[in-house]
Amino acid sequence: MKYLNPKPIFVDWAITTKCNLNCTHCRYFSKSKVKGQKVKKELNSEQVQELAININKLNPNWILIEGGEPFLRKDLFDIIKTLKPSNRSNPRNPWLNSRPIYIITSGKSFNEDLAKKCKNKGVKLMISLDSAIKTTYEKIRKGAHFNDAIKAIKIAKKYNILDSINYTLQELNTSSKEIHAIGKLTQKYKIKAINFLGYKPNTCTVSKTVIPDFLKVFTDIINIQKKYGLKIMVDEPFYKPWIIKSKIKYQISKMESKGPIIVEDKSGCIFGEYIFIEPDGTIKPCSFSPISIKQIGKQTIKKIQNKRNRKGKCAKCEYLLQCGGCRVRTYVMTGDWFESDPFCPL
Ligand code: SF4
Ligand code: SF4
Repeated sequence: MKYLNPKPIFVDWAITTKCNLNCTHCRYFSKSKVKGQKVKKELNSEQVQELAININKLNPNWILIEGGEPFLRKDLFDIIKTLKPSNRSNPRNPWLNSRPIYIITSGKSFNEDLAKKCKNKGVKLMISLDSAIKTTYEKIRKGAHFNDAIKAIKIAKKYNILDSINYTLQELNTSSKEIHAIGKLTQKYKIKAINFLGYKPNTCTVSKTVIPDFLKVFTDIINIQKKYGLKIMVDEPFYKPWIIKSKIKYQISKMESKGPIIVEDKSGCIFGEYIFIEPDGTIKPCSFSPISIKQIGKQTIKKIQNKRNRKGKCAKCEYLLQCGGCRVRTYVMTGDWFESDPFCPL
């Protein structure tokens, strides 16, 4: 298995491209719509078992399982069994059994049986809910029904396996009305944490990309965090620099808590410090990278990781070492790994 560090911080594994939805921001959905670009084949059950064993050898701190829709893979719990064997079957490595595993799901096909299985394996869920407003939600997550997502949240709460909800920031869901609606929804269903995921255009959606008004969005996020006492994680490298620059009177440690997507002690870009695995087994230095570690090359990745190699606005920025800008978004939008992040609001 080719990877960069002896120990990636975490592994983000998309185990399938199969999905019962067609979300606007999904890389697999958009690829399937582009002529000539086929969705990659996924690994068979034997191959995923081999990969799971190799992931265990890497010893990441935690594992994210996503897709597609992970619950559509019939061998999902066999994969989890390998990643998280019982103490009895693996007495020499009890750590494997305690290592956190999170599943990212839309909740569409979730039910009590699956909840029980997750509970038994100690697996937590991150349910994607990109809007608390039914019409917006169903516009973004094509084929989904808002009530199914709420039902999944209620089941996950009942079994105490809900880690958080994921909210991908995009044109349709970044108004103040939308951000405040999701805050209110967390109160209604006693949800404790939201991961706001910054929009990372892929090669198929880049031409339609609209840069959000981050200053307004971040202010709304801070406001709902205060109002509802939420754990908030914002997956944008310039979020913390924005907090510092805006002189928000909150300790950064209170603003963000440790979570499976954000690495608490590294506010900036963690390109290449974790690995993303495609459903066909391709290994990438970031979940949104259009190309693999092998295609980019280890030397180039090392250069990209050194924030002092940035150009333009990032190179002169006082927050360079804390942030560094999103490398993948920059590459997709400018064709240059080292340019400054075109989304930077500072
Ligand atoms: S200029 Fe670059 S390093 Fe500075 S905050 Fe913006 S994205 Fe981050
Ligand atoms: S390139 Fe960096 S900031 Fe962008 S998504 Fe990847 S890890 Fe996050």
